[in-house]
Amino acid sequence: MSNQTSGHVCAHHHLYSSLARGMPASKTTPNNFLEILQQVWWRLDNALDEQMIYWSAMLGATEALISGTTCIIDHHESPNFIDGSLSLIAKACEQVGVRVNACYGVTDRWDDLGQLHSKVSPLSKMTNAAKRGLEECDRYLSQGGRGMVGVHAAFTCSDETLNAASELAAKHNVGVHIHVAEGLDDVHAGARLESLTRDNWLLIHAVHLDRKLSGYVVHNPRSNMNNSVGYAKPSALKNKILLGTDGIGADMLEEARLAFVRLREYDIEQTPSTVWSWLENGYEIFPEAKSDKVTYNYDHLDSPWHVAFTPGVRATDVEVNGEKLVVAGLPTRVDIQEVRAKAAEQSIRLHQRLAI
Ligand SMILES: [Zn+2]
Repeated sequence: MSNQTSGHVCAHHHLYSSLARGMPASKTTPNNFLEILQQVWWRLDNALDEQMIYWSAMLGATEALISGTTCIIDHHESPNFIDGSLSLIAKACEQVGVRVNACYGVTDRWDDLGQLHSKVSPLSKMTNAAKRGLEECDRYLSQGGRGMVGVHAAFTCSDETLNAASELAAKHNVGVHIHVAEGLDDVHAGARLESLTRDNWLLIHAVHLDRKLSGYVVHNPRSNMNNSVGYAKPSALKNKILLGTDGIGADMLEEARLAFVRLREYDIEQTPSTVWSWLENGYEIFPEAKSDKVTYNYDHLDSPWHVAFTPGVRATDVEVNGEKLVVAGLPTRVDIQEVRAKAAEQSIRLHQRLAI
């Protein structure tokens, strides 16, 4: 019987989405995954500026920490503020005390005239925006930043861009962090990435992946259900599975509970230990999280069966590298009221911009 765990790893996050909550609805109701991307996420990332990115990251990192998530693997996009964006996110996480593995998600969906292309020809030329995204990854990693090379997804990138991202990752001895076959629009991802993927790549979603690729697969059950893209059947894949939230907070026990009931819906013989092993696989990317200590308001944290059927368990205290970063539910390095207030100011600016 224990009221403690190690720190948790959120293996796929979008800290830039913390301010999306409450954003104005698009004028028409999206009725498929591509329209959700076009009308929600691509509108949002296109509107982000420096202050919005910083306070969004501060809020997301603080919310992660008070849930016992001490490590975040982040995937960032902000086409109108690319240069320096990864250092800005790393700075916010450092201030809160959360470790981050950052990347800029390159894409060719914005052509050089600023026009949006939902689908990009594999044969098209790399855009300037994609070049700048790769340069941001290169700059950040060259300066010692902890991260990967990000790619949005194969279906919004030319082959030239996919190859360049793969080469840059190999140069820095890191993997590529990429959305793979999340929806049917990206069903050709397997064929296009087959010759490029390596064991250190992070393949996000893999819902409609039609072949085995090298790398870790990151499962995001809440996001997949929310976008109605289908079930990824992670227990049937040969890859090592990690758990992410795809930007919907970073409460990993909550995500694990949802992952478990979705898994049971698919296979009644499964036990919570399958999903808990996905949480633990995150320590392959962030081994130091194992030494972090998270204390909860519940005393059966060593039993996945207990945790899976006890919604609402809360972290009360979090210790990272021996430093108490959360005490009695509140972060110690930052004032949570100030973070919420500053983030709220930026969300008003962001939502005004999106309402036009
Ligand atoms: Zn994502």
